[in-house]
Parts: sequence; C-alpha cells; structure tokens
Amino acid sequence: MELLNTSVWTGKIFNGDWVAGGGENIDVHEPATGEVLTTVGMGSVGDVLRASKEAAEAQKAWAKTKPEERAAILRKAGDLWYKYADEVTHWVIRETGAIPPKAGLEQHMAAEICFTASGLPGHAMGSVLPSNEEHWSFARRMPAGVVSIISPFNFPLILSIRSVAPALALGNAVILKPDPRTVVSGGYAIARVFEEAGLPKGLLHVIPGGADIGQAVVTAPEVRIISFTGSTQAGRHVGELASKHLKRVHLELGGNNALIVLPGADIQKAASAAAFGAFLHQGQICMATGRVIVHESLHDEFVKVLGEKASHLPVGNPATEQVALGPIIDEKQLKRIDGIIQESVAEGATLVAGGTYEGLFYRPTVLANVTKEMAAYSQEVFGPVAPVIKFSTIDEAIEIASDNEYGLSLAILGEVGLAMKIADSVPSGIIHINEQTVADEANIPFGGVGASGNGSRFGGEANIEAFTETQWLTVRAEIAPYPF
Ligand code: NAD
Repeated sequence: MELLNTSVWTGKIFNGDWVAGGGENIDVHEPATGEVLTTVGMGSVGDVLRASKEAAEAQKAWAKTKPEERAAILRKAGDLWYKYADEVTHWVIRETGAIPPKAGLEQHMAAEICFTASGLPGHAMGSVLPSNEEHWSFARRMPAGVVSIISPFNFPLILSIRSVAPALALGNAVILKPDPRTVVSGGYAIARVFEEAGLPKGLLHVIPGGADIGQAVVTAPEVRIISFTGSTQAGRHVGELASKHLKRVHLELGGNNALIVLPGADIQKAASAAAFGAFLHQGQICMATGRVIVHESLHDEFVKVLGEKASHLPVGNPATEQVALGPIIDEKQLKRIDGIIQESVAEGATLVAGGTYEGLFYRPTVLANVTKEMAAYSQEVFGPVAPVIKFSTIDEAIEIASDNEYGLSLAILGEVGLAMKIADSVPSGIIHINEQTVADEANIPFGGVGASGNGSRFGGEANIEAFTETQWLTVRAEIAPYPF
C-alpha cells in the first residue's frame, strides 16, 4: 500500500500533518466480516477550534495564489485518484461494504470532480454591471474563507470530495468531518491525495468524530460556509445551529424517491431499472428508488418479474465473492430497515421477495400492496426494499409521487409525452425520464427540494454559487462629490 498505508494515520487526525487527536481512538470495522480495518483518532472540540484558526490563517495566502497554481494541484489530485485506483476501490469495498462497480464509481467520480474543479480557478468570477453613476461596477465572486464539510457513510468519498475539491479550487480552506464508520474513504484518502498533490499545509483538516464534532465544525468562529450531507433529521439540527450563528449552510438530505412505470412500458426493462434503483448499494443511497408506482395494466406481471429478479440477486461479501449486494453498514441500520419491512408486512403489505437477513446481509426485498399508511411508503428506508404501489390514472401517479415531504429524484419509465406531463407536475430536484433514480456526474447541479435540502446545488458551475461570496465593487477615477 503506497497511498493508504494505515501506519500513517493510526490513532491520528490530519491538520496538514498527522497528529494525535484529542478524542478517543476508534476502530473502523469492515461490515462484511466485523474485522477491524484500522484504528483512527477522533477529534475534540479543541482540535476543531485550532483547525479553524489555522485554516483561516492558511486561507489568506491560498486565496492570493495564481489560479493556475490552484488548478495544477486539483489536476494532480485528479491524476492521483487514477494512479491509486486499485487501493482506493479496495478500501471503499471493505470499509463501506460496496460491490466493486460502486467502489469504482466513487474512485472515478473523485477524479472527475477534481478535474472539473480544476477549471474553477480560471472560470469567470463575476460580471460587469451597467451603472447610473460614473464608475465601473462589478459583481465579483470572492473565496468565502473556511468551509466545513460533514459527510455520511454511504458514498463517503464522493460526498466529501464533491465539496472539498471545489471549495479548495475556489480559494477556501476546508475542515472535513467524515462519518466515524468510513473515516478512510470519506476523509483520510482525501487527505493523503492532497498531501501528495502538494496542497499547502493548513488548508485541509480532517477531523473524525460524531455529532458533537459535527456541531463544533459548524460553530467554530472562522467557519463561513457549511456543506452538510446526511439525514433530514440531523440536517435540521445543523441548519438551526448554522442559522443561529449566521452562517451559510448547504443541506443535502434524505429522499423517498418515486419510480413511475407508465402503461405500455417494457416490463423486463422497467423491472431491471427498478431493481437497480432500489437495490444498488443495498438501497443505502439518498437517490434510491423508494417507491415503485406501477400502472394497473402491468402491475401483477411487473411485481412477479421484479420479485424473481430480487430472489436471484446474490448477497454476500463483495471483497471475496461476486455479489450484487453487500452488507448493511451496521446492526443499528439493519434493525431499522427490518423494523420498517416487518411493520409494513404486519399492516398488510405482501412480501414478494426477501424480508430476511443473515448477519448484516439483508436480502433484496419486494413489497406489494403497499398503502399510504405503511412505514415503507412514507419513510426513507435506506435499505434494499422496493415497495410497489398500483395506480390507474396519470393524475393518480402524480399524486402518489408527490405525496411525500422529500423531493430529491424522480424516475419515469415509458411514453415520453406522458412522462413530460408528470415531470412538469411533481416537485423534484432531479428527474430522469426512461432511467432509474440513482445517477450523478461531476458537472451536474445536484440537489433536492422540500425535506431533501434547502435549495443548494453542488457540481459544475453551481459550485461557484455554493463556495464563494458575492461582492459589489465599484471603481471611480476620482473621489466622488457629495452634498455634505
Ligand atoms: P446522519 O445524518 O446520521 O450522518 C451524516 C453525518 O452527519 C455524519 O458525519 C454524522 O456524524 C453527522 N452528524 C449526525 N448528527 C449530527 C449533528 N447533530 N450535528 C452535526 N453533525 C451530525 O446520516 P446517515 O444516516 O449517516 O446517512 C444517511 C442519510 O444521508 C440518509 O438520510 C440519506 O438520504 C442522506 N444522504 C443524502 C445525500 C444527498 O446528497 N442528498 C447523499 C447521501 C446520503
């Protein structure tokens, strides 16, 4: 191991150097086996306050570096994700319980996000404004200062780097707090890459910890912007805290995403799309297909085909077997998933496939006859379950798809004309016609509406809005005359 050598960080946190953290050390477990993969340091509130001061100091010089110098570091980071692709995917597989294609996607996206971010330093940073005064008037984008990033366990690398890379590229310093279950994929791999890419010290701090450290990275005085990805419940706390301290906060939260199968759709293809959307990474994706809304003319056949697919998908240790689904991240999540499924079955849902588990391996589950009252309908399960609901009219499909506090991703399969009508009627940050609900690319404006977020967007040019402040600047040839 060249990049991800555990001896570099054992018992430590990252402040530009690897140093002992003020919190307790914790073990990071492989969910598939329970094996301890590494032991990492946890930060204390004192560590966060120190990091915030150091970051603010380092940021002053960083904001003044030439755009091409910042771009070069981002490009180098992008190259390193490819240079160390095997090591990185191996860690993501073992630490997050991912199948190799999901881990490969994280590694690939990490590189592409860095390459896309390398274009930001050279991007236009504002506009020239016509003015009624005899001066030049500009709106220009300035680095914000220190950006704190809080990320979750499911796609830890992408969900951290999608804020780290653009924030740094745009002249900010960063404090990153990864989830304690996925510290390496969501934090230390990024620190190691930017170390080797030549990022000056003090600009990137990685401080693992729980909710208390999450709160500290929000309230630390020098922090100006917070990028939070996680549950709606925790996001509400972070949003409240940030508002109280008058800080800008980007919240990327949960989802309960609908996939609508229209009359006349190809049942095999539609079932394949629904299975992928619901079961990829064991359903632990904010964009996962959470409700499959199927026209009555196809419903029974669709449920049969989807149930057969689910029954045949292999589940096991993705590091040692060729499987479609790996383990759930931990026992607590697994119990929550099983609770929602069993409760829904007790309330009358038909268990078509799955509904059982061994260790942390939950079988892909299909539920039919799901009604509005059931938890599998109304809640984000964040597990491998496809609840199927029948509809008869397009208005009914629109009503069911919209009957939800979230609004992250919507998929519509079948006739495009009908799909367009639905797309214009259901509130959603992301809509895919004739594709399932889970997708991401480095240059797209990612984000949700309703309880899925607070209107922020990440990716491509949206990052300029997300990670800079706007300044109005005027310039006049001589001191202006005033009546006083
Ligand atoms: P979580 O909210 O429990 O944790 C996410 C992160 O927030 C972790 O680093 C955690 O330590 C930290 N945290 C928790 N409570 C906090 C608090 N009070 N203050 C500050 N930090 C706190 O989320 P999770 O269960 O780990 O992740 C799954 C959730 O994330 C799902 O709801 C999923 O939909 C959502 N998610 C959203 C997106 C998106 O882009 N919209 C992407 C992935 C996951």
